Amino acid sequence: MRTSCGATAQRCAVVVAAAGGKRSGGKRSSGAREKQQQQKQAQKQTPRSKTSHMSECKADEILCFDPVPAARGALQVLYAYPNDYSVGITSLGFQLVWAFFETRADVAVHRYFTDAHDPLPASPDLLGFSFAWELDYANILSMLEQLGIPILAAERGDQHPLVFGGGPVLTANPEPYADFFDVVLLGDGEELLAAFTERLLELKQQGGGGGSRQELLLALAAVPGVYVPQLYRVEYEGPTGPITSITPTHTGVPLAVQKQTYRGNTLASSTVVSKRMAWENIYMTEVVRSCPEMCRFCLASYLTLPFRTAPLEGSLIPSLERGLAVTDRVGLLGASVTQHPEFPELLTWLTQPQRSHVRLSIASVRTNTVTPQLAAALSSRGTRSLTVAVESGSQRVRDIVNKKLSTEEIVACVGNAQDGGLEGLKLYGMVGVPGEEEQDVDATIDMMQQLRKTAPKLRLTLGCSTFVPKAHTPFQWYGVSPQGASRLQRLDKALGKLGVEFRPESYKWSLVQALLSRGDRRLSGLLLLVREYGDSLGSFRRAFKEMEGELPPMDYYTSATYQPDTTVLPWGHLHGPLPQATLVKHLQEAQQHM
Ligand code: SF4
Repeated sequence: MRTSCGATAQRCAVVVAAAGGKRSGGKRSSGAREKQQQQKQAQKQTPRSKTSHMSECKADEILCFDPVPAARGALQVLYAYPNDYSVGITSLGFQLVWAFFETRADVAVHRYFTDAHDPLPASPDLLGFSFAWELDYANILSMLEQLGIPILAAERGDQHPLVFGGGPVLTANPEPYADFFDVVLLGDGEELLAAFTERLLELKQQGGGGGSRQELLLALAAVPGVYVPQLYRVEYEGPTGPITSITPTHTGVPLAVQKQTYRGNTLASSTVVSKRMAWENIYMTEVVRSCPEMCRFCLASYLTLPFRTAPLEGSLIPSLERGLAVTDRVGLLGASVTQHPEFPELLTWLTQPQRSHVRLSIASVRTNTVTPQLAAALSSRGTRSLTVAVESGSQRVRDIVNKKLSTEEIVACVGNAQDGGLEGLKLYGMVGVPGEEEQDVDATIDMMQQLRKTAPKLRLTLGCSTFVPKAHTPFQWYGVSPQGASRLQRLDKALGKLGVEFRPESYKWSLVQALLSRGDRRLSGLLLLVREYGDSLGSFRRAFKEMEGELPPMDYYTSATYQPDTTVLPWGHLHGPLPQATLVKHLQEAQQHM
């Protein structure tokens, strides 16, 4: 999966997901289906074989932190990644949360993947999921079943562990999954996780917050960033109508939950390296968080604002030194890495002769920062190809989305990539942006023709998706364009003749993404049905048909345009970094270019 500038971040979610080695959206490939079959196979393994597989995995791990043995009476935590070990252990978000628990004497943590797990505690207090890819929800439900825990939060009793979730899917819009979680942690984990754990430990010491599960949840709901879905009542204009209100069920439960923002200087770095990772032996360090560009569709920017950078001295260099002590493969993560103010110095440090063995991967670079020097430095460290997002060949569309990039800068980027010795450049674009016309697609074809002429030796690829609305962005009110599929086909036909490789993302999958990104909690029941039918668009349509009369039609979620002043959004009670009035202002600025 790509981030950012490579991240037309509707596809990229947030940085920790990027580290997941698996995208949190995008085309459902036959590879994905195969993967799912493998997972089903893995789930049939006996508990014995999963624990021995875990032992083998652990033997290959090199830890970058010092675990602390759990004390007697420690909180028993099962921490799960709803996919196989190689995917989960590559997720920086998963690594961080696991290491957080491992370094507390008052917590005993046991890891749980679909194909491997530690020996399980008899009665865990807490079961957590790192949720970075929407359709992994089916694995979450299967894991709950395997552990003998009711899938629906409302059916769990005092004897069951609290089930919490965090990660990019839930932080953006947890509502389609609201019925499955007791607690959702919204925002950056650094301080939120500690606040949540400490409050829970306090309550446990006091005897469960007074006793019942309900009282425990009520007490936890007072912690900033802790969202307890069942403590909010959602009312609708009839079963198939829009939401009319979202209100707390009890006094003392906040009217809205504010996503938490970490403001420290040190960003995330790998806590483990293993040859079994999806990117073998990679040590990842987060160079920037969020993106200051604020393209109006971009979740990676809007959901994680403000833009933060880790200083070189005292933060990035010590982190990289720790990593290079255990591996020679380094990944620099962030929505727009080259926008770090000290990026040239960082690159100089990494390309010093004594680090000639270092293999460097960069999540994404901004198009107008690709100089011949950058391209040459990266190609000298094993990078053959770069990814940049241009969104469209049309200046009008780039103005609509707030992509501050000219055609001249894109042409210069391509020329510099070739001159710097790179072999390939992958551009990312998008069709179906609100306000896009057919002539804007023509402009993309023209631009690709110009790029082909500018750099005839470079392998040029255009990856292209259809615009998908994402919560907490100015374009959250727009639906998926019905013209998306035909525009992808038109590009496919035209670019093949130009010698440009065209890689479209599935339009049907864009519809599924839109459904999940704008869904409300009435989708929980639908997801249970889809899980039975398989995760194709046809399965979603079949489930909608079966539930006709119980929820709005699929198009209401995927394609309708909502009115900002009258629509109660499913995530209206979950506040992101910017207030709605600011998002509306940014929307109106976009509309001036339409
Ligand atoms: S806001 Fe930043 S990360 Fe997102 S698409 Fe724009 S430039 Fe890329």
